[in-house]
Amino acid sequence: MASSSLSKPDPRRKPPSTGTRVSVLVPLPFPGPLDYLAPMLLEPGDLVTVPLGRRETVGCVWETDRTLPADFALPVGRELLLERLRPVVGKLDVRPLPQSLRRFIDWVAAYTLTPPGLVLAMATRIHLKDAPKPTLGWVRTEAPEGDLRITPARRSVLNFASSTPMSTAELGDRSGASAAVIRGLATAGLLREAVIAPAAPFGLPDPAHGAPKLSEEQAEVAQELCSPVEAGRFQVTLLEGVTGSGKTEVYFEAVAACLAKGKQVLVLLPEIALSAQWTDRFIRRFGAEPAVWHSDLGAKRRRETWRAVAEGSARVVVGARSALFLPFADLGLVVVDEEHESAFKQEEGVMYHGRDMAVVRARLADAPAILVSATPSLETLANVESGRYRHELLTARHGGATLPDVSLVDMRSDPPERGLFLSPKLCTAIDETLEKGEQAMLFLNRRGYAPLTLCRACGHRMQCPNCSAWLVEHRARGILTCHHCGHNERIPKDCPECHAENSLVPIGPGIERITEEAKLRFPEAKLLVMSSDTLGSPAATAEAVRKISDGEVNLIIGTQIVAKGWHFPKLTLVGVVDADLGLGGGDLRAAERTVQLLHQVAGRAGRAEHRGRVLLQSYVGEHPVMTALVSNDFQTFMEQEAEQRRPSFWPPYGRLAALIVSAPSADAADALAREIALSAPEREGVQVLGPAPAPLAVLRGRHRRRLLLRTMRGIAVQPILRQWLGDIKPTGGAKVDIDIDPISFL
Ligand code: ADP
Ligand code: ZN
Repeated sequence: MASSSLSKPDPRRKPPSTGTRVSVLVPLPFPGPLDYLAPMLLEPGDLVTVPLGRRETVGCVWETDRTLPADFALPVGRELLLERLRPVVGKLDVRPLPQSLRRFIDWVAAYTLTPPGLVLAMATRIHLKDAPKPTLGWVRTEAPEGDLRITPARRSVLNFASSTPMSTAELGDRSGASAAVIRGLATAGLLREAVIAPAAPFGLPDPAHGAPKLSEEQAEVAQELCSPVEAGRFQVTLLEGVTGSGKTEVYFEAVAACLAKGKQVLVLLPEIALSAQWTDRFIRRFGAEPAVWHSDLGAKRRRETWRAVAEGSARVVVGARSALFLPFADLGLVVVDEEHESAFKQEEGVMYHGRDMAVVRARLADAPAILVSATPSLETLANVESGRYRHELLTARHGGATLPDVSLVDMRSDPPERGLFLSPKLCTAIDETLEKGEQAMLFLNRRGYAPLTLCRACGHRMQCPNCSAWLVEHRARGILTCHHCGHNERIPKDCPECHAENSLVPIGPGIERITEEAKLRFPEAKLLVMSSDTLGSPAATAEAVRKISDGEVNLIIGTQIVAKGWHFPKLTLVGVVDADLGLGGGDLRAAERTVQLLHQVAGRAGRAEHRGRVLLQSYVGEHPVMTALVSNDFQTFMEQEAEQRRPSFWPPYGRLAALIVSAPSADAADALAREIALSAPEREGVQVLGPAPAPLAVLRGRHRRRLLLRTMRGIAVQPILRQWLGDIKPTGGAKVDIDIDPISFL
């Protein structure tokens, strides 16, 4: 522990008997804050070190002002009670967590039914105790030169030294003198050490730097987005617009308005891979870098960024959902880009939806929020319909670029050759595109070589030993792997079941297999594969994006990473290898998500002067999802979706919570699920579905059962769950996880 950052109380001084009690929230799963004695002046939000058992932990002062009343009598004497409280050890040298963040932490905890300490942990997970070491430099003192012999080197140093501290290296460089000369002058009292103020790690974005000339429509929408920013008033606006219509350019105007007010901006992106291209655009528009926040940042950069956000010197933060928990000094605007993305939902630990919590964060900070999408979620559209959110629409692509022409390849009448996956129609289109010197992209949202491996002789399917899931072949690495638990094994030569030789065959395509096919079919093409297996870091993604933008490649093959908001001017053809892929599984949002994803992939085509083309390979061409994509009629599709969900109160017309029961054995999971089901709430407007085995009935060796709690919109699920599960005490390694507003039903 760096004691320099702690103002330690004097241990010899007894805590005053009239001391104050403070509650301190610690980053652990207690039901609430713990009480401590404050031997120093503490404010709510102060980060402090407190003893906990035999350890110490960093916590946050949640309340003060709880001086025990003079008539406090029971159950023990006042003196005794204070004696029993353990004192706070010290206060960290950082800004207190602002009230809006503390209220947000309480809100998220209550909404997700998580102990508040675990939510606090997301805000303080950095090592704040390692305060940045001050850098020291030299300043000229008032002391007279006296009878010190002033050599030319000394003279030079004294000429350059001033009241602004300069490091030994800098002063040496300027004066041409050695470090020994400088030290000598310090010993003589003519120079003194002083702290060099750290350079602000983040530049100051300039609202006027690269302001574009907006179209009339863009300007009107921008004005609507700016006015709540200027008024400093909470207000949620959905910014909807076709891909390439300038949504980013337009919300940048609201960012500029917020900067002009001197307030901070938070922009959430669904994936950190997008932050590099976003940052480039931001620099072009504002002439300075934004602060980037995500889990891949190094520890030092995290600390710097955290502090800069707390001090207000980081003006614009772009980041993943965890950026919601940064201690903004003065938040004036929250933007959620690609708001429909399910990647905003955190599925582990504290299960929260980044978009929904962004709206809460904005409300608690009295700041407006902008939700941005070409294909808004039904949740957001329902909020627009009910009047809670405002709606701004951009109807045209910028600069006259037209929307791509989307058509179907019916795989029943126009199938690929046996054992292949690219239809003749799609191949011809790729040939034409490459011949014209343009770029084509193949999209398949599935990693690896093949999603299933089976034995030709006995039909045995290669399955994960820990999960109810098939093993996915990754041929390049020579392994079969489980995408749920990470289990790996070498690809066996013979069937492990019937021992038939060389009998295992891959079934279905993954992106590796499509790449193999494309290499054979388009030997001249310059190929680039984009998937999480080939792009390990944001830097690798940025490099891939550069290669595409610079035209170093002309055939791009990718998983969902290619669907993101990239702007590739030379890309004119997008081929969706399996448009039906997301439709299986009976997930509530399967159709909605498929439309959103494929529309977004399609939107990569023809973003500049050349018209784009999109081909969807499908076996179910008559499906409403395909109709919506081909006719580019997203609205009718969403209306149909709404009509399906409304009558039976599926979200967003009702509320949903998932209970996931898991245990080391199937029997234990069943027993706990039954116990929970027996005490299920019975009342009007509340329904419990299940228990049923989860689709992933076994995950990482744990057996899983699911229940769903569904209520009519006006009925909150949290009080029901609290009461229902309050008395359930799982034993023997069993547990129940609660997922409010579930997105995944696996
Ligand atoms: P979206 O976010 O809706 O996909 P973008 O904001 O990325 O759209 O805009 C698409 C492209 O058009 C970008 O290259 C952007 O810089 C450009 N663009 C949009 N509006 C303007 C404008 N008013 N002036 C200049 N360029 C613009
Ligand atoms: Zn597994």
